[in-house]
Amino acid sequence: MFDSLSDKLELTFKKLAGQATINEINIGIAMRDIKRALLSADVNYKVAKKLVEDIREKSLGEEVIKSVSPAQMIVKIVNDELTELMGGENKPLNLSPKKLPAIIMVAGLQGSGKTTFCAKLARRLKKNGKNPLLVAADVYRPAAIDQLKTLGEQVEVPVFSIEEPDAMKAVMQGLEAARAGAKDVLIVDTAGRLQIDEKMMAEAEAIKNALKPDELLFVVDSMMGQEAVNTAREFNERLDFDGVVLTKLDGDARGGAALSIRQVVEKPIKFISIGEKVDDLDLFYPERMAQRILGMGDIVSFVEKAQETLDIEKTMQMQKRLMKNEFDLNDFFDQLQQLKKMGSIQGLIEMVPGLNKMVPKQEIENLDFRPIEAMINSMTKQEKENPEIINGSRRQRIAKGSGTKVQDVNLLLKQFGEMKKMMRSVSKLSQSGRKITSQN
Ligand code: GDP
Repeated sequence: MFDSLSDKLELTFKKLAGQATINEINIGIAMRDIKRALLSADVNYKVAKKLVEDIREKSLGEEVIKSVSPAQMIVKIVNDELTELMGGENKPLNLSPKKLPAIIMVAGLQGSGKTTFCAKLARRLKKNGKNPLLVAADVYRPAAIDQLKTLGEQVEVPVFSIEEPDAMKAVMQGLEAARAGAKDVLIVDTAGRLQIDEKMMAEAEAIKNALKPDELLFVVDSMMGQEAVNTAREFNERLDFDGVVLTKLDGDARGGAALSIRQVVEKPIKFISIGEKVDDLDLFYPERMAQRILGMGDIVSFVEKAQETLDIEKTMQMQKRLMKNEFDLNDFFDQLQQLKKMGSIQGLIEMVPGLNKMVPKQEIENLDFRPIEAMINSMTKQEKENPEIINGSRRQRIAKGSGTKVQDVNLLLKQFGEMKKMMRSVSKLSQSGRKITSQN
């Protein structure tokens, strides 16, 4: 997402890059371009107008430092203003440590990604040492309860539900169950409708009053564009929620919602959901998002994500084996698993500056490790440890066993061989480098 906005802003900055000074005229043109880019990304009109006015004022008021070009200066100003627009800094969940359980109530329209978010949040809290309980309060749709149960199993968090279509009863009994089971966080998935209606709002309001949640989070689908902002406004007027969860930011949405919501409802965006998998949830950092919009990538969250999910011990072991030139197809397989654990490949690629431009989107979407995994799985232990022994007849057997073609097996072995060669030279290089430094 944000691809086209990023491209348009980049073009504006390029035009400015040729200018020696910032003046009323070139700033005027740049601001017109930025405003157009924002509007076409579905940013709320008032928000875009105010943002551009602020950028203009700052740009003309700011003294251009000798070491930076006017264009660089403006990039910085736009970056700061975008960050500010989206709330400045990350606002974490505010859970009372004294109240047991702390309560998180989740509301939003049907299809917004509410139920999926509840499970993702439960997983995240559990990873952070909490002991959560999920409550299925969307009692009108049995499918919704089943969905939460399935997701609960996946994230290994229990789900409380009742048979009767009585949301208040489900919630209050869920609270009792949490207390009885010594749970420290209760996550309540409330009922959503396709459109805002009085009954849904009244029910959510009643649950809010009865539960007095520490956090009432509003979940909204960023693909809804301007409508996302209007829905947020209506929910906020009625429920006065504490924070926003923006979902489906991995889609082709023009991203305007992320930029407008905070300004319009004056509530922080706390989380962003970037895919359907249970790990595709991130805290919302306005500064990183601004950098991503400006096409500067987001190395910080990329590294963080890698650190969070990669098995450090395994990686260290693998490095040792690499140095000794013992890296085999088993290690290669493990590496693929680690890569997969890091979540949606597309999401990762978007975070690395430049990479999103280098790898065509279609290729990313078609990236499929399954054939490679199948081929490696069809090999014997000896073959994996010693790929050199894989001759023609073995190749044929592997292709047959994995449902691939011999050419695929050839390609895999060729690529693996090249990778190994490359790694060998890298490790030789680093070893000789070490010798030189130790001599010094
Ligand atoms: P609810 O009706 O609000 O509870 O919505 P669900 O949690 O059932 O989600 C609706 C659909 O959106 C499901 O197919 C989810 O898998 C999907 N979904 C949820 N979050 C995301 C996301 O961040 N990205 C994408 N691509 N799909 C999502």
